[in-house]
Amino acid sequence: MFRKGNKIYSILRGKCPRCHQGDFFKYPFSIHPMKVNKLQKKCSYCDLKYMIEPAFYFGALYVSYAITVAVCIITFIISKLLIGLPILTSFVIVFIALILFVPINLRLSRILWINMFVSYEE
Ligand SMILES: [Zn+2]
Repeated sequence: MFRKGNKIYSILRGKCPRCHQGDFFKYPFSIHPMKVNKLQKKCSYCDLKYMIEPAFYFGALYVSYAITVAVCIITFIISKLLIGLPILTSFVIVFIALILFVPINLRLSRILWINMFVSYEE
């Protein structure tokens, strides 16, 4: 379903947005704060520089914000409206979900951001 050439392939597998071969992140997924969002300098296959311009990933903050809002809304809807928990408990669950989602959010926002600007080339 998500084969090479599709941006979702690059995003879910953490691959270079141009060739879908080289790894985008330096380390596999972990919750270690120093390793979670470290990027390679460039792609090992096509030599795409991942830092396209200075401070390129500041823009990923907007993506991260959107992901955070989505996680808050979805978690709140599940806990308050579907399960029917009290509002204070729902907010605590939203807070816990956000903390647990930080490593995923950091990685996802960066790779989503670069995929907005770099397209797949064979
Ligand atoms: Zn590449």
